[in-house]
Amino acid sequence: MKPVVVSECAELHKIVHSLHLQDLRVGLVPTMGALHDGHLSLVRESLKQSDFTIVSIFVNPTQFAPGEDFDKYPRTLQSDLELLETVNEKENIFVFAPTAGEMYPKNFDTFVEVGGPSKPLEGTFRPTHFRGVATVVLKLFNMTQADVAFFGQKDFQQVQVIRQFVRDLNVPIKIKMCPIRREEDGLAMSSRNRYLSPDARQRALCLSRSLRHAETLIQAGCRDRAVIEAEIRAILEHPQHKIDYIAIVNPDTLLPEEAENGNTGNVGNAENGNALNASISPTFTLPVAILLAVRVDDTRLIDNIVVGE
Ligand code: AMP
Repeated sequence: MKPVVVSECAELHKIVHSLHLQDLRVGLVPTMGALHDGHLSLVRESLKQSDFTIVSIFVNPTQFAPGEDFDKYPRTLQSDLELLETVNEKENIFVFAPTAGEMYPKNFDTFVEVGGPSKPLEGTFRPTHFRGVATVVLKLFNMTQADVAFFGQKDFQQVQVIRQFVRDLNVPIKIKMCPIRREEDGLAMSSRNRYLSPDARQRALCLSRSLRHAETLIQAGCRDRAVIEAEIRAILEHPQHKIDYIAIVNPDTLLPEEAENGNTGNVGNAENGNALNASISPTFTLPVAILLAVRVDDTRLIDNIVVGE
């Protein structure tokens, strides 16, 4: 069965209210649509852990800066519903597909500003991005009244930002992070992969390859930030690639560890003049997160790995 599609918040409230009256647990999987198996892995996890699953599909304008791909972002509701049909055996999936007017009515003027984990990395390159993400995600939490929400490690920094505001604002919801789903050749699944030409698609494998190589080095005992970063950079470099960042950071703070006794390294985001470089430790401890953002031709791809958890 194709899932039931709800577009109005009031209707959604009624449905969730009646589910909660029956003591049923509601899971939420927020997405921007153009669904692929990565999204479905979150839906499957929600189906395992909850009685009903709401999949939201909304291309959120406030998380795109002018000049980003909001207009060309794929909108494929019919095929999204067909994909969801394949996991809706128990008919316990709802799709919440609000209009922009439902999410951001006239005179809307309140935003969620998260500090800490929203500041480095994506925060440097897309300064208004997490404000838009946090705002829409908090609205979705409130609109769906879900008990638990599922997010992908693919957007590792996003999960840390959401955890931060859920803690800070006492939002009554559990946050679950699910592993990155990859194509057989290692490319992290992403709605943006469809922008890649066949040649760029092949070159895009450098992200996952460089992360696997870094993992191997770390497992062999290497803790030298400069060595790992240089090895990753060598794999990513190509005249048609632009490396936004290679970050080797603490998974909780998303910051590199600080040097003790003035013993400093000068790596990481050096190209961006990150002031933190002055006190970055030349080595790191486990667990460590390595996050990448690379433009392959015109398509900005992100990927990450956490080692030693
Ligand atoms: P998006 O539609 O890109 O906003 O993604 C919606 C959710 O799906 C986010 O929590 C993403 O982290 C998650 N997601 C996207 N790609 C993947 C993937 N390859 N594996 C696991 N989760 C993913």
